[in-house]
Amino acid sequence: MASGQWQALAEQFQVICPSGGGPGAGDPSKQRGQASCGHCVSVAGLQGWVQALLDQGITSFRCPRCPDAPWLWQEVCKLGLFSDEIRAMLETQILAQEGTRASYRQCPRCQHLVQRLEPGPLRTPCLLCSQRARRLCCFCWGCRTDWPDASAHADLHCPLQAALHDAPTIQAPRSSLHSCPSLRACPRCHALLSHTLRGCPLVLCPECQCSFCYRCLELSRGHVSPCPIADRQLVCGGMQ
Ligand SMILES: [Zn+2]
Ligand SMILES: [Zn+2]
Ligand SMILES: [Zn+2]
Ligand SMILES: [Zn+2]
Ligand SMILES: [Zn+2]
Repeated sequence: MASGQWQALAEQFQVICPSGGGPGAGDPSKQRGQASCGHCVSVAGLQGWVQALLDQGITSFRCPRCPDAPWLWQEVCKLGLFSDEIRAMLETQILAQEGTRASYRQCPRCQHLVQRLEPGPLRTPCLLCSQRARRLCCFCWGCRTDWPDASAHADLHCPLQAALHDAPTIQAPRSSLHSCPSLRACPRCHALLSHTLRGCPLVLCPECQCSFCYRCLELSRGHVSPCPIADRQLVCGGMQ
């Protein structure tokens, strides 16, 4: 969506409030909150705007007035005062969009989505859980288990799990690899590999020479096709 359209839509919903309290403060339909960029946001306006953007397939938000101020999903939800039900409904729309995998992960505690803009540390804070518990609540982006303090997590497979989770799905309708994840771990040694999309689904692991099927993850010896597409692999002790 072009920047102009983005702003026009925000104007239409009156997302940004004029500065100063003004008449109407205290009126529930005029509830407002302050975003991290400093702008004052109308709760009702934000709700309509977010729904309109999601309806157009947009799943990343930013301040309509500050071009470089991202509003992460958890902040949008806090500003919009979304109820659990509304939030869950909007999150279903987010997850239905191709390409949101790498930036959204479900908190194991509240089951709501947490967004991040780029791969970073695995320890991921959940704003909602932290607010409710009045302390910092984090979980692991890889294994999706609780991560209460910075030192207490030692599953060496979690970075690999995060990479497997974040990998987009292959979009190649004429290939037999269509809708497989674009990264697989070798079933024997867990080396990460992707398919060139040329040739058959069978691949050879460059690390351990294990030959397996990229679709069903069965070993090539005795492999029967057609085969189902196996789910994303679970390589650490947590949940997918
Ligand atoms: Zn702003
Ligand atoms: Zn949470
Ligand atoms: Zn982990
Ligand atoms: Zn291998
Ligand atoms: Zn197979």
